[in-house]
Amino acid sequence: MAGIRFGVFQTRAVLIDDTQMIDIETRSGGRFPSGPMGVLAVWDDFVGWARGITANADDPVVDLAALDAPVPAPHAIFGIGLNYRDHAAEAGLDIPKRPMVFTKFPSCITGPSGEIALTSNRCDWEVELVVVIGKRAHKVSVDTAMDHVAGFCAGQDISDRRQQFADKPPQFSLGKSAAGFGPIGPVIVTLDALPDPHDIALHCAIDGELVQSSRTSDMIFSVPELIAYLSDWVTLEPGDLIFTGTPSGVGSVRTPRRYLQAGETITTQIDGIGTMEHTCTEA
Ligand code: ZN
Repeated sequence: MAGIRFGVFQTRAVLIDDTQMIDIETRSGGRFPSGPMGVLAVWDDFVGWARGITANADDPVVDLAALDAPVPAPHAIFGIGLNYRDHAAEAGLDIPKRPMVFTKFPSCITGPSGEIALTSNRCDWEVELVVVIGKRAHKVSVDTAMDHVAGFCAGQDISDRRQQFADKPPQFSLGKSAAGFGPIGPVIVTLDALPDPHDIALHCAIDGELVQSSRTSDMIFSVPELIAYLSDWVTLEPGDLIFTGTPSGVGSVRTPRRYLQAGETITTQIDGIGTMEHTCTEA
């Protein structure tokens, strides 16, 4: 298969081969653990093994709606603010001179489908490419940064703008970390599965209406630049996530402003990676 697609089904790490999924612990005879975090800890070894594996007739068919978050318990989650020029412009803010980093707490992680409970009437959507770290990174250069990437998945950086901007200066982390505010998935895709890992289309729709549509080539700071910058300050561990910023089209800077409503469906789609779908509910 071209590239590796890695998912989680009923808490077990699975390799996805076209329409089927392969239980990694079972197929590897216990060489790799059942838990996805354990597989991420030995990612290069796993990928080397997985490249020779294809589905058998009795491997189950993938039900994308039944997959869990591909990284259920990251050690750290970084968010990047204002990383697309058009989003900085719509927010009326200057282009940042270096990456604007905030934290999403790991308890916000949820899978690629299901419900998201809104915490107020000012919750907003943000489609983002999410980088999954596959090898410890400390003070790595831009040139070697991508060697530390397991792959990419789609993400939503759901944000309660009331909480995010409640203080001056604003403090992003809590308003972006409520339960369910970090959907990721549907799978991790290795970089060799993507025609150009630095130029990927990403989209968000609310109840079928396209509200965000851009390409990751429009980022201000590229994925390798973000990894190099972060790793200069902190050690990135396997399974760490970087939400790389959102393009224009978020609700809070529209005229009139628009926020997520209970009953609405958020569709998050990234070319070559997949689609997530979530329904908003009252808190
Ligand atoms: Zn964001």
